[in-house]
Amino acid sequence: MLSRLRRYRTARTLRRHGLPDRLWRKLRRELYLLQNLCVRQAVRLRERSTLLLHDKAIHGVQGLNMNLEMKAVIAAQAALLILELDESSYDGWKELIVYPGAFRARRTVTDEFGISHEQVAPLSGESWQSGPLVLSWEDVKRDSYQRRPGSHVVIHEFAHKLDALNGRVNGMPPLHPDMPIEEWSHTLSRAYERLLRQLERGQACINPYAATNPAEFFAVLSEYFFTAPHTLKHHCKDAYLQLRAYYRQDPLKRLKH
Ligand SMILES: [Zn+2]
Repeated sequence: MLSRLRRYRTARTLRRHGLPDRLWRKLRRELYLLQNLCVRQAVRLRERSTLLLHDKAIHGVQGLNMNLEMKAVIAAQAALLILELDESSYDGWKELIVYPGAFRARRTVTDEFGISHEQVAPLSGESWQSGPLVLSWEDVKRDSYQRRPGSHVVIHEFAHKLDALNGRVNGMPPLHPDMPIEEWSHTLSRAYERLLRQLERGQACINPYAATNPAEFFAVLSEYFFTAPHTLKHHCKDAYLQLRAYYRQDPLKRLKH
């Protein structure tokens, strides 16, 4: 019953609020992540982008005026992560806040001795579990129009949203029934520990931020998966294969077209 209702709502939203052709063509031309999709993927991505735009309240703060194109730049790239996942994968939260540039957030961090410190750090994005997703427009623009291998703030923050779907942001999103949990845990933990050892030797092959914790590891790996799949496959082949099974798509194939 619920899925019938959802299908009805989806069809109505697509009919009434479809992305204008000209804007969609512009996005396909200018956003490098949207290139080399097959026809089926392109059609589905447009639908998913439209639904996201309709479902989330996207608004700028500090004087930033988010027009339809700016919102669609975010929605289209966010939709790429869930292209082959369930349509409900971004359910459970409503708000997307966009700052003009890096924003400052106050944090409590616990050090190795168990002492808590207050920190104020500039951020390019932030994702609250079942709360809003926050992005810096300057960083979105920087990552969207030019390939910066391993760096994409939209991919990073939306990957956290997928990770949070099973109630914990721990680096493991809800896996598909055909994906054994032990295989995921074993592969990702091994790759994480390898990164920690590389960092000790001062020779990390991916962004050291991934070593912050398993949740950041998954988000950074997702950035590589979509923006630099060959790098991820070369350095962490097993982890690449796990992400390919989870996202149910292969960005490496798109690069070869
Ligand atoms: Zn993060």
